[in-house]
Amino acid sequence: MSGPRYILALDQGTTSSRAILFDRSGAPVAAVQREFAQHYPHPGWVEHDPHDIWQSQLAVAHEVLRKAGAQASDIAAIGIANQRETTLLWDRASGEPVGPAIVWQDRRTAAHCERLAAQGAAPLIQSRTGLLIDPYFSGTKLAWLLDSAPGVRTRAERGELAFGTVDGWLVWQLSGGRRHVTDASNASRTSLFNIETLDWDDDLLALFGIPRAVLPEIVPSSGALAHTDASLFGASLPITGIAGDQQAATFGQACVEPGLAKNTYGTGLFLLMNTGAQPVASSHRLVTTVGWQLGAHRTYALEGSVFMGGAIIQWLRDGLGIIESAPEIEALAAQCASSEGVILAPAFAGLGAPYWDPYARGTLLGMTRGTGRAHIARAALDAIALQTVDVLSAMEADAGIAVSELRVDGGASQCDLLLQIQADLLGRPVVRPAVIETTALGAAYLAGLETGFWSGLDEIAQQWRAARRFEPAMSADERGQRIAQWHRAIDRARAWDVPADQPCSAT
Ligand code: ADP
Repeated sequence: MSGPRYILALDQGTTSSRAILFDRSGAPVAAVQREFAQHYPHPGWVEHDPHDIWQSQLAVAHEVLRKAGAQASDIAAIGIANQRETTLLWDRASGEPVGPAIVWQDRRTAAHCERLAAQGAAPLIQSRTGLLIDPYFSGTKLAWLLDSAPGVRTRAERGELAFGTVDGWLVWQLSGGRRHVTDASNASRTSLFNIETLDWDDDLLALFGIPRAVLPEIVPSSGALAHTDASLFGASLPITGIAGDQQAATFGQACVEPGLAKNTYGTGLFLLMNTGAQPVASSHRLVTTVGWQLGAHRTYALEGSVFMGGAIIQWLRDGLGIIESAPEIEALAAQCASSEGVILAPAFAGLGAPYWDPYARGTLLGMTRGTGRAHIARAALDAIALQTVDVLSAMEADAGIAVSELRVDGGASQCDLLLQIQADLLGRPVVRPAVIETTALGAAYLAGLETGFWSGLDEIAQQWRAARRFEPAMSADERGQRIAQWHRAIDRARAWDVPADQPCSAT
């Protein structure tokens, strides 16, 4: 086929920037990744240098083109997926950042959030934004930046400053300062955005003390969004796709119909379920989010995030030293057919969805003199799977939709035993796709849909291929018993005697 061969996907993550070229079959042709510095100036604070974000992203974009022997004329369009909620403020005239990028993990605004909760703001925030009150989201981070130095707020009110999440910062840079935008999926993580009207919400802006003049224009996730400055790649390239990383991964997993869901087993677990054209309010402590907006069509999702996913495996490696590398967990856990009653309630950082309990602590129960490393390894895999069961059950109850299969990705999804345990405890098939670079692929799909590189959602759904499917093989009785036992263990972890002034940071 003639015309440009590739879509360039930029995947700006928390610890690294990646660039991947995808061809028309949705296959990755070349990929380059570069890590950048994390800054922890105080306990609970996490910052990035905005220049590092941009320079590392630009460098990998150039490098991936070189690696594939490609030129600007080979690129049909650029799609961007990004770490979400991370908050930046910069000067519109000079392009210079005002302060650091405050990363999603940063807890510095916990006191501000407690004040909002004490004011009774939770129902307003939940009904307009679909979110909970938590330092995770951008609103209080932006308020912090506005108050971080004398004069910043005044400059913001005069329209001299621009706020952005990472997508907005990258588009600003890529467009040579011509475009100040954010897509609806990223905007829906700010606490300032009304997910029904798809616009900034004046009541929320007043509540968080944010002047409208700093806000970006909201654009669809797929559309003619911006053009790169011609000096960057030798020709001006269209930017036609933007989404937050988890929404992009959901799109890359072709979860384009209501009821399709994916789980990413990274450091944490991120479950998202497509709930269709209407937002579903959660009564099980999940968040409601914009999945993506294609032209005028919006798709919503329910989302649950769990702090300890693959991180449990890292703890077995670094904390206990019972494995030397993450992949070793599989052979160790396979030495026993079950954990023989050992349960790990992994509340090391408190509990995220659906419990949201910062006072819970990690708890290992049910040990006997026969308990060994293998049982603990097995209990660790069970814990990852059982947390997923909890979140998926909450989603199904909120949405009134039964999920027929769970699509999976992320580092720990390479562990076949974990996925078999997951299928057993879920009672549903678990499917690992052929392309596991789902975040970048989702950004590519959003971009390529706009330019006609792909014809539509049908073609994308057809391109998605299962590499391996894990069928449930546990009886419903046993599953029920295991889940009931797990909930008793979670109760113990939550009842642990943590002083009220020592809540766990979420990271
Ligand atoms: P993140 O994007 O959060 O950095 P990744 O998707 O790269 O996470 O996944 C990293 C996690 O996956 C680590 O916590 C690690 O313990 C786990 N992991 C990586 N490879 C394997 C494997 N083969 N088996 C089990 N767990 C693995």
